[in-house]
Amino acid sequence: GKTIIIIGSGIAGMATAIRLRSQGHEVTVFESNDYPGGKLTAFSADGYRFDMGPSLFTMPHFVEDLFKVTGKSTEDYFAYKKKDTVCNYFYEDGTKFSASANIESFAEDASNTFNVDKAALLEYLNKSKRKYDLTSSLFLEKSLHKVGTYLSKDTLKAIFQMGSLDISTTLAELNRSVFKDERLVQFYNRFATYNGSSPYKTPGIMSMIPHLEQYFGTYFPKGGMHSITQSLFQLSKDIGVVYQFNKKVEEIVTTNNKVLGINVGGQLVKSDIVVSNSDVVPTYRRLLPKHKSPEKILKQPRSSSALIFYWGINKKFPELDLHNIFFSDDYEIEFDHIFNKRQVCNDPTVYINITSKEEESDAPKGCENWFTMINVPSNIGQDWDTIIAESRKHIVKKLSRLLNEDIQSLIEFESVLDPRLIESKTQSYQGALYGASSNNKYAAFLRHPNFKNSIKNLYFCGGSVHPGGGIPLCLLSGKIVSELIMKKN
Ligand code: FAD
Repeated sequence: GKTIIIIGSGIAGMATAIRLRSQGHEVTVFESNDYPGGKLTAFSADGYRFDMGPSLFTMPHFVEDLFKVTGKSTEDYFAYKKKDTVCNYFYEDGTKFSASANIESFAEDASNTFNVDKAALLEYLNKSKRKYDLTSSLFLEKSLHKVGTYLSKDTLKAIFQMGSLDISTTLAELNRSVFKDERLVQFYNRFATYNGSSPYKTPGIMSMIPHLEQYFGTYFPKGGMHSITQSLFQLSKDIGVVYQFNKKVEEIVTTNNKVLGINVGGQLVKSDIVVSNSDVVPTYRRLLPKHKSPEKILKQPRSSSALIFYWGINKKFPELDLHNIFFSDDYEIEFDHIFNKRQVCNDPTVYINITSKEEESDAPKGCENWFTMINVPSNIGQDWDTIIAESRKHIVKKLSRLLNEDIQSLIEFESVLDPRLIESKTQSYQGALYGASSNNKYAAFLRHPNFKNSIKNLYFCGGSVHPGGGIPLCLLSGKIVSELIMKKN
């Protein structure tokens, strides 16, 4: 086996470590924080427990794969259950809609709530499925940047079907052309936010995302999202991955365009291979100062970030579930603020995640733990203190109105996460949640590859490189990196 250093213990770093260790390599992970998981972490205070970052868990088979490759059984580490209700939606006009995981019930309920035929809905979801089936093996599961990928049968299939992929219309245009009911258009436009993009900019191919949610389902890990981090951390240690916490890597050291190791704490630590799970922008700007950086890729606009109020709420709300969305009245204004004005509007869509609905111990008796989030632009030096104060007022007012309750008086605990903190805690450029946005049709090609031709034995994984952000894609990046390394060694 080779000696391999992984920079960062984000979900992708851990997934890569597990796969490479299973191949017999000596793997050491250097992490600047004193905890693993990067964005996928949690905290507890005043009797409440909160998942801090990701809250939506889809495609659990990508996590299961990691147990499989090590020969361990998932049940010994990790448990999760499928949700029957995916999400509760609240509109400003008073409409309430509960999205069922069952496709038939979903179509039935939607046709009763919105002005739409069941058949039209099923047809939309069918087309979404086709987009995924045609492109996933090409865009997600392989390195897009290797010649072999372009010569594959899947590529040809995708090219012949280009028209049906809706690459040249925006998601919002596509949805408006299919549905007449504005509420349903907003419902399907929302899926652009799953990778931190705008429905008014991202291509129509992103309509494959509702298919993923509907087809693969949404899940809740026992113990909350943080148990994904905890179980992968435990698994990796059990198979012999070594972690070095409180170790901020200062440089990736190269010689003759080949990796020599890393500098950390002023010391050179040698290794045959280095994998960076750090965001690709600081990887170049700080860790590879002597190498030419791919400016076109690094300058791609970032995805959105988040402003989150972790609230301890001294009441139970039976009309709420694990996932709840309170839509803005005007989605176009909201996204114009996020991606053009780079500001936050007065009526943002509010997402509330309540894990105490699933795990009672996450909140004191009679209370709920509200992870209350709005989408905001990535950090380019906005006046966040003012944005936080203003947004808080708007959110409290909106929720009080739609839930018919004085929310302010129920908040007995509060903590806040904003883009500045996301950036400083995980070194994600501009505090973006998903690396670069998918706000144009070339985005997939403008993500950094998982390797670098001009530096031998250097690899990249995580949400800022191919195939993209979010837990499933981050896990896939680990798979691609481990396959590239396997082929070379
Ligand atoms: P990160 O989590 O970014 O971790 C990188 C790690 O590398 C960090 O621990 C950092 O400290 C370390 N590091 C960086 N540089 C160095 C260095 N020089 N030396 C040592 N260590 C270093 N995804 C979903 O799938 N579903 C969701 O619902 C969802 N919601 C989200 C909500 C929020 C608020 C946030 C913040 C993200 C959300 N995401 C969601 C996105 C998801 O969290 C990320 O895509 C994913 O966790 C990123 O993992 P990663 O491996 O790229 O690394």
